[in-house]
Amino acid sequence: MQDATTDTADEVTQGLSERLADVRQRIAAACEKAGRRTESVTLVAVTKYATPEQIRALIRLGVADLAENHVQNLQQRATQFNEVHHRMLTSRTPGIAPKLRWHMIGHLQRNKVKLAAPHITMLQTLDSLRLAEEIDQVAPKLLGAGNRMACLMQINCSGEDQKTGVAVGAARHLAEQVADMPNLRLMGVMTMARISDTHDQARHTYARCREIFEEIKQHKIAGEDMRHLSMGMSDDFEAGILEGATIVRIGSAIFGKRDEQPSS
Ligand SMILES: *Cc1c(COP(=O)(O)O)cnc(C)c1O
Repeated sequence: MQDATTDTADEVTQGLSERLADVRQRIAAACEKAGRRTESVTLVAVTKYATPEQIRALIRLGVADLAENHVQNLQQRATQFNEVHHRMLTSRTPGIAPKLRWHMIGHLQRNKVKLAAPHITMLQTLDSLRLAEEIDQVAPKLLGAGNRMACLMQINCSGEDQKTGVAVGAARHLAEQVADMPNLRLMGVMTMARISDTHDQARHTYARCREIFEEIKQHKIAGEDMRHLSMGMSDDFEAGILEGATIVRIGSAIFGKRDEQPSS
């Protein structure tokens, strides 16, 4: 049953479509400032605080890349919304993406790999050799022979004492090891700035990540596959783009801040 305060589907779509247009406009402006093509940046919508109605509306607006940071939510939402997307496709809804891509952006525990892997299009948080080994071992069975798991190596570039992300000094070596694994496809690197960072501090963090990325490329680790830099969230994605981000991960600027969310 709907209560009187619940927004109608049209209102949800209207609000989202405005915020999405605003984010796309900001991405385009940052690209222009950086002298880059707008198409060189992929917008990944982080749905962790989004309502199901919002996700549905977003898919209807043509967004293809979605991200979650918890295995269970990813599994649940990928299953649910791949189905929704499939129905939209079969009913020929105009303007929707041909396929949804699901990004895992939270820490992945080794004992959750089997659960998560079948739903993940790209794992953005590869952060240890042991996790890589686990994925390499189970991938053929979970993804089908010949299908490799696309990964970004998460690097801790902010200097923050966080639990996840490989240390700057260990990044190149891990990249070499992962690049040698037959069932992983190392496609780039990802980093997070500190929540408290100013725009300049975030940019500094992103510049550091780009340097490591360049160094890995210079050494021809992972070859042509090595092409993605995932840097930037709602408050600082312009800084990411100025430092070469090819992927930005945006939640609240599209869906509203968590405390502005309607309770469900
Ligand atoms: C939540 C989250 C984001 C998006 O954050 P917003 O500030 O809401 O845009 C991006 N990346 C990661 C890893 C996250 O956990």
